[in-house]
Amino acid sequence: MKLVEKPRKETNNGKHSKETAKDGQSLSSGKTMNNSRTGKEIIKKQSGQANLENYELARATFSWEDAKKEIDYLADGKINAAYNAVDRHIHNGRRNKVALYAVDAKNNLSSFTFQDIYYLSNRLGNALKSLGIKKGDRVFVFLPRILELYVSTIAIAKIGAVVGPLFSAFGPDALRDRLLDSEAKIVITTPELKVKLDGIKSDLPNLEYVVVVGNEDTLKQGEISYEEIVSGASEKLEVAAMDPEDPLYLLYTSGTTGKPKGVVHVHNDIIGQHMTTKWVLDLKEDDVYWCTADPGWVTGTVYGIFGPWSNGASVVTFEGRFDAASWYALIDKLHITVWYTAPTALRMLMKAGDEIVTQYSLNTLRHIASVGEPLNPEVIRWGMKVYGLPIHDNWWQTETGMQLVANIPVLPIKPGSMGKPLPGVHVTVVDDNGEELEAGQLGRLVVRPGWPSMLRHVWRNEEKFKEYFKIPGWYFSGDNAWRDEDGYLWFVGRADDVINTAGHRVGPFEVESALVEHPAVTEAGVIGKPDEERGEIIKAFIVLANGVKANDELLTDIKEFTKRQLAAHAYPREIEIRDSLPKTRSGKIMRRLLKAWELGLPTGDTSSLDDD
Ligand code: ATP
Ligand code: MG
Repeated sequence: MKLVEKPRKETNNGKHSKETAKDGQSLSSGKTMNNSRTGKEIIKKQSGQANLENYELARATFSWEDAKKEIDYLADGKINAAYNAVDRHIHNGRRNKVALYAVDAKNNLSSFTFQDIYYLSNRLGNALKSLGIKKGDRVFVFLPRILELYVSTIAIAKIGAVVGPLFSAFGPDALRDRLLDSEAKIVITTPELKVKLDGIKSDLPNLEYVVVVGNEDTLKQGEISYEEIVSGASEKLEVAAMDPEDPLYLLYTSGTTGKPKGVVHVHNDIIGQHMTTKWVLDLKEDDVYWCTADPGWVTGTVYGIFGPWSNGASVVTFEGRFDAASWYALIDKLHITVWYTAPTALRMLMKAGDEIVTQYSLNTLRHIASVGEPLNPEVIRWGMKVYGLPIHDNWWQTETGMQLVANIPVLPIKPGSMGKPLPGVHVTVVDDNGEELEAGQLGRLVVRPGWPSMLRHVWRNEEKFKEYFKIPGWYFSGDNAWRDEDGYLWFVGRADDVINTAGHRVGPFEVESALVEHPAVTEAGVIGKPDEERGEIIKAFIVLANGVKANDELLTDIKEFTKRQLAAHAYPREIEIRDSLPKTRSGKIMRRLLKAWELGLPTGDTSSLDDD
């Protein structure tokens, strides 16, 4: 079926007010913040009744023990995350509700109900069992965003095997690293993608089968047809009763700061996944929800599959690549109401301009959220202008397994801030000894261990795991941040990226945000470059807006512009124009590569680099 119009729902889109708050804060190390980065600018928008209505009350009274009531347990305290995501909806009235709107790269739409996913995953679960897959075995999913990706993820979890998500754009090296390290037994893939395994299979002694979705004519030795194994399998399956601490998925981090780490999460995560989806993404029964992240990354697995399905939401998936027109058309045609995306995508949409937005009807949208990188205030302002909605930034990591800091709908947004810690978690800023810092002081962003979705291991690397806990009493995220007097948290940079220039500590994010406020600049990556006099100087790499010509005058203008936005020492003394910035395949700017290239140093692990 081609995308067609559905009846449109009325929303209260487009009404907002801005107001000014009291004084903001500055970093203890120097006043480098201007108004837009200190909490003086506040955006408030009521978007109807939110799932989490009273933040303060929930912070004071919420307990994870209470949250267990929202989860369906199996006998004897056992649990299965996939049971909660799919099977329980067979008995709670959602059996015939659409679980998945799958739009392929040619814009054909197919819809699948919870019942469809239930039977399809039962069959595949049985098929995997008959191939010898047992609890704890690693089965990897190397698929584009098609139905079978979703079915596979659920089926693997249902039988108690460990799901290994892989991004479909990975090349052979990235695949070898992950499949070898995890000792994967099966990879589920397509005829187009399986060729990337051809040259590396001989390096993978534990790989028993490659299961191929579609076109049986392409099968070679060791490869079996998905359709064939599924067609012979029963649609009745008893879901595996898992201990809450049994592994659910093994996912490798983005590789932004170094070699990707194999993070192990457990079935107990579903409690955190469920609650945060409810609070932060605010999903309600009638929502049509689109998470643009690929399930090869943690956002796509947690908030593209488990979290929304546990809440019984209808999820949209789009196989096609990023393109402003296709994205807007999708929102328009499917009447998407809640949209979870990333700063890079939003910056690209901003680059595509305001005009194109007017060609689509986006007025079903009621809530937009963003994660993965710092969200520049300019992007939020632009979002207010073109979508009439604020974009809600939130912070978490592959390791945290769920959102921990967020601009939940009910709280006013301070553009540039990641928001406030969610109920049930203690996130704060400390010094290297673990002492909590006062408001306004730059330090380490840490979390008190004990939230349900915290990583349980780094796969077969206990030493790496221990490194996260080197600050006594805390899980250390590797990020630097500060907290303001209202309890909002402000991202400064990766701990390794913070620049020390003439005795002042400057975060790359604030400089990048100031740069993209200049109309000629669409993207910026900022590093510290060693300098005899100042220790480091700030060097910026920028991408210019469409049609803008580079010349010395423009560069001077950009420098002057940022100088006005920031404290004098925080402006970039050097600016280099580039056609693009190096990014991970999940879309994050790789500042460590900019730095390595600038200094002529080794580039380290580049398996995550998007070099298409
Ligand atoms: P690696 O750990 O392999 O270097 P990575 O840290 O990019 O890669 P992820 O777990 O995908 O891997 O990303 C988590 C990181 O992304 C956070 O530690 C933080 O640096 C960044 N991040 C996520 N959300 C935000 C946000 N809202 N604001 C600022 N930074 C964010
Ligand atoms: Mg990380």
